[in-house]
Amino acid sequence: KNAGKGCYRFWNDDFLKESTPDRMMIESLLREGIRQNQLVLHYQPIVEASTGKIRSLEALVRWNHPVKGMIPPDDFIPIAEETSLILQLDEWVIHEVVRQQSEWKRQGINLCPVSINISASHISLPSLLHTFETLVKGKPYLANFLQVEVTETAMMMDPDNATLILNQLFNIGVSSSIDDFGSGYTSLGYLKKLNADVLKIDRSFIDGITTDSFDHDVAKAIIALAVSMSMKVVAEGVENKEQWKMLKEFGCDYLQGYYFHRPMSSDKVYELLERHESV
Ligand code: C2E
Ligand code: CA
Ligand code: CA
Ligand code: CA
Repeated sequence: KNAGKGCYRFWNDDFLKESTPDRMMIESLLREGIRQNQLVLHYQPIVEASTGKIRSLEALVRWNHPVKGMIPPDDFIPIAEETSLILQLDEWVIHEVVRQQSEWKRQGINLCPVSINISASHISLPSLLHTFETLVKGKPYLANFLQVEVTETAMMMDPDNATLILNQLFNIGVSSSIDDFGSGYTSLGYLKKLNADVLKIDRSFIDGITTDSFDHDVAKAIIALAVSMSMKVVAEGVENKEQWKMLKEFGCDYLQGYYFHRPMSSDKVYELLERHESV
């Protein structure tokens, strides 16, 4: 029963392959890793579709293991999600983004909003709201530069509580996106109630947007839907110019993908933002 998709993936990966660790061991390694500050955040720019200019960043966690090197989130988030460790991980990410934003502000750079991925088990907990409230209390400028992303599937696990928390976050200035939209099952009636500011179209549709008529039609329909509900739309996984052109035609507001920028270290993204501002 415990062999969730996280564990399965893990056995097929290089990480710790030789020692075939069980779930408990990975968990305790990760727990230790969080304590020893082995997690790092990379940042991927999100650009405006009409101009290609950077408008926000998404924080993406990696585990920089002293022996195994950089481990991608898909190899440890699913395991953390099976336990309460995910709450600690999310908390670490939120604190780290706040620390980084404060640092950028100190260095005099114009801040850029950063979105933070919040896991399913966290989104309906009042403690999430408290974390944000406490962090922005002493730094009122900060709230407008923090956003949360919650997957459509996570939202639908406990939509009423999740909506409540998102609304309360909105009230303190933290806006929200529905991530991986189109891959889950949200009824249209609910979409309105969820009251999020942004829809992020799942990458699986963007992949086929110029080659597959179904993906093309779905992406187009999602963008039209968002426009009619006064929501902004981000397309993720944009990898070429043709996709950019088509998404622009459909009226998509923002784009994220390797065609524009890959996720990068905080130093690299800082340089990029500085260069960006001076042009
Ligand atoms: P996601 O939230 O859907 O994040 C987008 C993923 O797509 C990232 O992978 C990003 O590097 C990748 N991506 C962006 N542009 C392109 C592109 O043009 N082509 C392709 N092929 N991929 C692209 P990453 O960083 O490996 O993250 C994977 C997932 O791990 C995330 O999916 C998210 O669900 C989870 N995750 C990442 N960071 C965090 C975090 O801090 N907290 C939590 N709870 N989950 C996280
Ligand atoms: Ca995301
Ligand atoms: Ca996504
Ligand atoms: Ca995803």
